[in-house]
Amino acid sequence: MRPPPAFAERLIAWQRRAGRHDLPWQGTRDPYRVWLSEIMLQQTQVATVRDYYARFLQRFPDVFALAQAPLDDVMALWSGLGYYSRARNLHRCARVVIGDHGGQFPTNALALQELPGIGASTAAAIAAFCFGERVSIADGNVRRVLTRLLAYGEDLAQTKAVRELEQLAQALLPDAPSAPDMVAYTQGLMDLGATVCTRARPLCGECPMQDICRGHALGEVGRFPLKTRKTARRFERWWLLLQVHAGQVWLERRPSNGIWAQLYAPPVHGSEAALLASLAPGTQATPGEPVKHALTHRELQLLPWWVHSPEVPVTTGTGGAWVPLSKALALGLPAPVRLLLQPLADQPLPQ
Ligand code: SF4
Repeated sequence: MRPPPAFAERLIAWQRRAGRHDLPWQGTRDPYRVWLSEIMLQQTQVATVRDYYARFLQRFPDVFALAQAPLDDVMALWSGLGYYSRARNLHRCARVVIGDHGGQFPTNALALQELPGIGASTAAAIAAFCFGERVSIADGNVRRVLTRLLAYGEDLAQTKAVRELEQLAQALLPDAPSAPDMVAYTQGLMDLGATVCTRARPLCGECPMQDICRGHALGEVGRFPLKTRKTARRFERWWLLLQVHAGQVWLERRPSNGIWAQLYAPPVHGSEAALLASLAPGTQATPGEPVKHALTHRELQLLPWWVHSPEVPVTTGTGGAWVPLSKALALGLPAPVRLLLQPLADQPLPQ
């Protein structure tokens, strides 16, 4: 498939003229900052990432500070961003950069991919932004832009097609770009996907590629990208034992694998009967409003049961402790648990 003419030149010029220039992680060649923003931006909107990014940098200004911090501190700052494996890998990666690379990130995409939690596209972004490497990013947004631009109709559920699209992305790169050109080109791909060639309503009339876009010429933009395999979401119910007493809540650390790994949560039971059986004889438990929690591969229905009692509940995670509510909210909590606990912090607890 021949690349459309002058794609790279147009993209660079468009980015400089009309792209985004005010994102807090732009204008730096510091791989720590670029890496942090790229990891946060996976699965999370720019508007949300802005605040988290600022807070993270304030607390962990460089890779040394992050590596030295306890994992709990990192998880607590990440709380609410979701996809917590990102935070665990971030911490692990910082330690590898310090331990194996003397605190310096590798300077090319291939070596960057060897680090924990850094995939091909993130590695390419760091290499292009920080070291001017001629390498293309190919995340979900970019795949969408390129499949439309090239009218690439192969099924991206197939690894072979993804690899082929990555090669096509490489072929579109500018011939011998300067480092600033690679920055503008890479940012341009991101900007085009985020602001013009959007998933639901692409703004073809405002697109700098309109006259060379094959999907647009065919009048079939909606056909691209093709991805047949839908992520099957398994439905599960979890019964949460929210035991509170004297301004404290019983929390335990989740195991190191699985959903909510290493976050703090109330005991989780697989059935109502198991939850009730875990209570001391005579303890009163009251069911609360169910909460929906959608994850990539699972849809959880969380069924909270409230208990106001000083009894120590049966633990289902790794250990457990009474935690004052104000402290609990500063821990790494799953978002729905935070939502359940927040109202308690705002009002006096029943004893
Ligand atoms: Fe996307 Fe439309 Fe631009 Fe093609 S013309 S790249 S479909 S916004």
